[in-house]
Amino acid sequence: MKPATAAAQALGWIDEATRAVVPPLHPSSTFVRDADNGFRSGRSYTRADNPTYDQAEAVLATLENGAGAALFASGMAAATAVFLALRPGDHVVISRVMYWALRSWLLGFATDWGLRVEVVDTTDLDALEAAVRPGETTLVWIETPGNPTLAITDIAATAGIAHAAGARLAVDSTVATPVFTRPLDLGADVVMHSATKSLNGHSDVLAGALVTRAADAHWEAIKRVRVQSGGVLGTFEAWLLLRGMRTLYPRVRAAAANAMAVAQHFQGHPLVEDVLYPGLADFPGHAVAARQMQGGFGSLMSIRVKGGEQGAIAAAANVKIWKRATSLGGVESLVEHRASVEGAQSPAPPDLLRMSVGIEDAGDLIDDFEQALAASRR
Ligand SMILES: *Cc1c(COP(=O)(O)O)cnc(C)c1O
Repeated sequence: MKPATAAAQALGWIDEATRAVVPPLHPSSTFVRDADNGFRSGRSYTRADNPTYDQAEAVLATLENGAGAALFASGMAAATAVFLALRPGDHVVISRVMYWALRSWLLGFATDWGLRVEVVDTTDLDALEAAVRPGETTLVWIETPGNPTLAITDIAATAGIAHAAGARLAVDSTVATPVFTRPLDLGADVVMHSATKSLNGHSDVLAGALVTRAADAHWEAIKRVRVQSGGVLGTFEAWLLLRGMRTLYPRVRAAAANAMAVAQHFQGHPLVEDVLYPGLADFPGHAVAARQMQGGFGSLMSIRVKGGEQGAIAAAANVKIWKRATSLGGVESLVEHRASVEGAQSPAPPDLLRMSVGIEDAGDLIDDFEQALAASRR
């Protein structure tokens, strides 16, 4: 089965009792114990596990070619579990361009808790190699394409550097999606997704996921963090996420084709300073992206508008079809001025608008942003 088939059919699962092609939702928080005091069902309480998680986790493990997957209450719950499964005193290296709320948690809470966090430009392999300390660094965390500048990190090369130093590699692959990149196949140990984004795809679920290459001690520690801190996904959300993932491949492919069309149209535009999209041949990370992304470059891009912060905010003010909102990976197109969101440590230039491209008609999206740019200069 190709991944697109596995996703569309949610692994071809059929309910044995009813012959239904869609699994039931099990809202139960608790499960009956056997008379002899055992739990032959293998389940006791939903903070530990629930049958509604199983199929969505199995689909994700298949799409990422992993040994196992775990759903979380949000992308942040998933990402922080990877770090909380380490020990205070551990040295970790993270990408300079990454999801802003995770960077802020790592430099705040996690640093106070005792992690030694080093921020490095992971697009520069020499800088990465210099930052990783053999026998001391336990985890390298990268995000590629990195949000919001779309910085590309070479996953296979980073895995080589991390492993040579005895560290693991975790990849936030939210922007790439399993449709275009499979980090575990390139040497990563753990893949993280904000399933709120493309995996669910309809902007109606908050969810996170981790997929592991091996069911090893770090994975067991991550699962312990989930059970103990309780950041599990609600059963209704898990059921909706499975439904969303059935259309992952056609949705994400259509959105990526639209993103390429929008990026190509605005490249060289008189009111545009720069278009940041890994699919453009002159984008700095294009060659690496072309090697590690198969079949497309994703649905996220950024446009740097002429006229600085004011120019960018004025353009966003005039969109009609694009929606001014945070988030990405939904079927509807969103635009956001990132520097106003991310704060002082942000690598987002003040003239940058992040654009999450949806599956609308590409001509409508282009025409709307054209009129918004023109209206912003009147
Ligand atoms: C949204 C996002 C997150 C955080 O996920 P939540 O589901 O909002 O907690 C992490 N990484 C990336 C790249 C994201 O876009």
